[in-house]
Amino acid sequence: MSRLFFLLALSCLGAIGPVSAQASDDDAFAIRGLYDDVLTRSSCHEWLRHLCKRIGHRASGTGAYLSAVEYTRQMLDSIGCDTVWLQPVMVPHWDRGSVEKARIVQSRQIGTQELSVAALGGSAATPVLGVTGEVIEVHSLDELEAMRPEQVKGKIVFFNRPMDPKQISAFAAYGGAVDQRGSGPNLAAKMGAIACLTRSMTLKFDDVPHSGATNFEDGVAPIPAAGLGIQSAEMLSALLKKEAKVTVNLQLDCHRMPDVLAYNVIGEIFGSRFPNEIIAVGGHLDSWDIGEGAHDDGTGCVQSMEVLHAFRRMGMRPQRTLRCVLFANEEFGLRGAKRYAEAAAADKTRRHIAAIESDGGGHTPRGFSVDGTEQLLGRNFKRTLEWRNLLAPFGAADLDRGYSGADIAPLRPQDVLLFGFRPDSQRYFDYHHARTDVFENVHKRELELGAAAMLSLVWLLDTYGVQ
Ligand SMILES: [Zn+2]
Repeated sequence: MSRLFFLLALSCLGAIGPVSAQASDDDAFAIRGLYDDVLTRSSCHEWLRHLCKRIGHRASGTGAYLSAVEYTRQMLDSIGCDTVWLQPVMVPHWDRGSVEKARIVQSRQIGTQELSVAALGGSAATPVLGVTGEVIEVHSLDELEAMRPEQVKGKIVFFNRPMDPKQISAFAAYGGAVDQRGSGPNLAAKMGAIACLTRSMTLKFDDVPHSGATNFEDGVAPIPAAGLGIQSAEMLSALLKKEAKVTVNLQLDCHRMPDVLAYNVIGEIFGSRFPNEIIAVGGHLDSWDIGEGAHDDGTGCVQSMEVLHAFRRMGMRPQRTLRCVLFANEEFGLRGAKRYAEAAAADKTRRHIAAIESDGGGHTPRGFSVDGTEQLLGRNFKRTLEWRNLLAPFGAADLDRGYSGADIAPLRPQDVLLFGFRPDSQRYFDYHHARTDVFENVHKRELELGAAAMLSLVWLLDTYGVQ
């Protein structure tokens, strides 16, 4: 098929788009063309290389985050967006510091032993010599809450419930365990614990500690809290089964700093027929401050940029306005997402009809989750399922109702059809919030297959609209 013929065919399909709501052979032909283009001409792997290797991790509130803002603004400009702008938002700034150490200091069996730890975002610092206390192991918030205060006071609480290996989706396994990290330290603090260790949120059996946000309620003084590598957690747990008392010393020098001005980065291609209808596609530009924020969520950012890039590269003018949104501060407060949703609600001249978020890593695409109000889903979900036939040849046909993503979820009340890009989940938590989340662990082809799947969904939404 000549390229010229293909482009003519695509522009014809665009012109007749909304007349037929039924997916057709023409659509299959068009999507094949979109995949061919992304798989041979994409820039997203090189953009990711720059984000990871030249800028590095991009924690909320840091200068590196602002470097990433400037780089992606320039890239969106260079691919020919009609407009690119920065949406200001104040974000929290938590600094890890340079000391994070833990060791067993008193054990009959092994004496002293180092433990592998990473401070959790929002953790308090310890005194210079650390906090030292007896460890108590629990497996849930309920189990801790059922204890008597004197059992917890002055102790180090150790949450050790693994992600459930029986779950086939690693995202589901994460969802079933992450309350220990997000809320465990807060409960431990309220019950008088001096520190908290949480088993890392991963299914990989190694000793790489994983970070992530932990939240303390207003009025609860934060305590030192750290993620513990899986092998360290297993060793500590085994020791606690043999010995009545195991004592650990934890040293952290992290601290909270004043809020900082940051930005969501937004690029736009104006729609030719329905410019007031917006289809947004995005990921979050911030990351944790260990690793390079490659899978979380550099991949989602560059895939989203690639969607607009492909439209420009192929000479396609969308009917509806396409937006690439790179959100600030997903990891530690969601301020960018909230700011974006507020601005969208305040814009009375245009409205979002659909949004797609890629924040599940850059692995092989499987499909999309679909979310929205019941009424909106009632009008659109069945039709969306018909698109499975179009995505099946590319392995991206899993379309199910489910949560879309933290950055676009605040758009839900505005009657926006929400999609979460769903790649294969098995290796995502090997890297998530850990020093192993680096560029080298992203596979170029898998990254591009994801961008092509997102482009295909955007193309279908642009062609058929939302009812
Ligand atoms: Zn993320």
